[in-house]
Amino acid sequence: MEASTHQNPENPRNVYHIGGIPVEFPYKPYGSQLAFMGRVISTLDRAQKEGHCHALLESPTETSTPETAPPATNTMSQSKKSVPTIYYASRTHSQITQVIREYRKTTYRAPMAVLASRKHYCTNEKIRNGDNLDEECKLLLENKEAGCPQFKNAHRVKSHPSLQKGGCHEAHDIEDLVKIGKTVKGCSYFAARSLAGDAHIVFCPYSYITNPIIRRAMEIDIKGAILVLDEAHNIEDISREAGSVDVDEDALHKLQMELGQLCGGDALTYQPLYEMVQDVLSWMERRKGALEKRDFQRYVSCWTGDKALKELQEASISQQCFPILQECAAKAIKAASDTESGLAHLSGMSAVALEGLFCSLNYFFQKNGLHINDFQLAVQCIFKKDTGEISRC
Ligand code: SF4
Repeated sequence: MEASTHQNPENPRNVYHIGGIPVEFPYKPYGSQLAFMGRVISTLDRAQKEGHCHALLESPTETSTPETAPPATNTMSQSKKSVPTIYYASRTHSQITQVIREYRKTTYRAPMAVLASRKHYCTNEKIRNGDNLDEECKLLLENKEAGCPQFKNAHRVKSHPSLQKGGCHEAHDIEDLVKIGKTVKGCSYFAARSLAGDAHIVFCPYSYITNPIIRRAMEIDIKGAILVLDEAHNIEDISREAGSVDVDEDALHKLQMELGQLCGGDALTYQPLYEMVQDVLSWMERRKGALEKRDFQRYVSCWTGDKALKELQEASISQQCFPILQECAAKAIKAASDTESGLAHLSGMSAVALEGLFCSLNYFFQKNGLHINDFQLAVQCIFKKDTGEISRC
């Protein structure tokens, strides 16, 4: 719900001094909103003095975070000499749209960006409605001759006059950037990523902050940044999701096949990974016979702690050999993302499967297995009437 729209004649610009900082608010704020902004400012002030600080703030029902957090964080960040980037993360894109709508009502303007997937941003009519857009985009960009014409014009989107200071889309949403992309025949996805590089405030879904793989892919550096997680009661589930990987047998077979093909060119990097995936597949095959029935379609086995370590050893992944495998995986993933090199590499889907696998395995082994009891290893088999059996690790 919005705060009171009545303007105070004695304070027509609605400037409120909170913790010694003037904050301009689009409405006459409720007391609870003033208290909320006060808490945001004192948290940021403490973070600046102590290097870091967290606050868990709950908006009463008559107020909402989208109205109060952007003015307070923005004012505070603008009042410092070196401006930390503010990442405002929300659960869905429609919530981000709502936050930007509220942000537009304020007088604060800072270089901004909204990060989202190619599905939301791609302006290449030929492929934008395809099922495998990420992969198709990467293939197009690897093709030096054909390429993607929109990609070459991404700079036209970024430098569009309406996005500049004082322009009507200075505070913009995904839709605005797509419209501009279509007008100038440029790629809005890469324009948004480039805008994020210079932005003081970046709006994005949670996973762009919580998932290290997405963070790396989007070149997001949260060190020293101000993170605002809207509706943070979802954060446990979101973090659990970010720390988990679900790889099915078909993806592992595809990965193994590609690794096998790459062994000839660089055996040092690809051979150990090929053997590891082969051992994981045979381990899954052995375990499939002894799964417990969960419901009428699903059969599962789970292990945690030492039992999970023992199972991983059965799949030839031990604490001792993990660092070597991790190094090989890092090289293979880097080669797959370096489209300029011209060297043979994994496909995008296989690189994603490998990266997800190693990201989760790293949670098992990091700090000498200190957090091993917080994670679970599982094999599950789902029987589908029409498509048959699907096994997952
Ligand atoms: S470069 Fe941009 S416009 Fe071209 S395919 Fe990729 S996301 Fe779509």
